[in-house]
Amino acid sequence: MGQKAAGMGDAKALEKSLWYPDPKQRREALMPFLWKTLVPQGVLLGNVALGSSMQVSNRYRVSYPGYSEILTGRAQDDVIRGNDPVQNPTPSFLQFLKEKQHLRAEQVAVFASWDNFHFSAENKPGDIYINAGYEKSRLPENSSWTGQLNRLQFDARYIEDSSRHDAFTFELGLEYLRNVQPEHLFLSFDETDDWAHDHRYDRVLESLQYLDRSLEKLWSYLQNSSKYANSTTLVLTTDHGRGDTIASFSDHGPDVPGDDQIWAAFVGPDTPAVGEAQNVPQAYQRDIAPTILEILGFDYREYTGVAGQPIAAAVRAPSH
Ligand SMILES: [Zn+2]
Repeated sequence: MGQKAAGMGDAKALEKSLWYPDPKQRREALMPFLWKTLVPQGVLLGNVALGSSMQVSNRYRVSYPGYSEILTGRAQDDVIRGNDPVQNPTPSFLQFLKEKQHLRAEQVAVFASWDNFHFSAENKPGDIYINAGYEKSRLPENSSWTGQLNRLQFDARYIEDSSRHDAFTFELGLEYLRNVQPEHLFLSFDETDDWAHDHRYDRVLESLQYLDRSLEKLWSYLQNSSKYANSTTLVLTTDHGRGDTIASFSDHGPDVPGDDQIWAAFVGPDTPAVGEAQNVPQAYQRDIAPTILEILGFDYREYTGVAGQPIAAAVRAPSH
């Protein structure tokens, strides 16, 4: 297996702009905003070389079990056994927040490239605002940009039937954020995974570059908004890892070694600005929801059945 098998056969331009002998330089060239601006302002967990490991705790290491673990703070191995579209039996932490804060459905929003989020993000259809897969967004009303995106997403066909391009997900979500001003927004991209399955490592890299530009656009909107500036936490994570060799990078699942290793970053006023976590206890995907609840000032133990715990490194100690 060589460059060609990994989809890099004609990717000289990418190699020229992204390849450095030092892995730190490589990651900064690939995602400059994440590494140079976001991470120093918060905490990133999951660099095993620095003594920070983060893993999925579900046994499947595919997307739905991973998203469900993120959204409910627990693995549900007996119910969510793969990517089959079954309604999540458990209310997500987004629904928990909606109830605790007495919010309307529109104030808790999910924009996702994969249509499966209609099943993973809520146990009662319609409880929160979900726009996922090839789907027009009803809100904001009277936005010509949303109208254009609503039409174009069906013209710009993607390699999967159940997912649309991340650019539509992001721009629809950002326009919703600007106009509806939700209390909580969950965005989910898809392309790095699908391109990897297709052995297109060049497209994986380009999708990560797009993700980095999207993060910069999102963060600059938030930090210039009177509602969100300096009071908003950004949480980044992934539904699963994947193989780490040229032969295995395309895949993940119970038989692919190392794909249970994931990462997460927290950036916001209630997280210490330490950069990459070093020599911290093992963290799990199921800990993300309890950490978010803790950051927002809720007692995570009130979220019935939660199995994870807040990640201490991601939460600033109270100053009193
Ligand atoms: Zn996949």
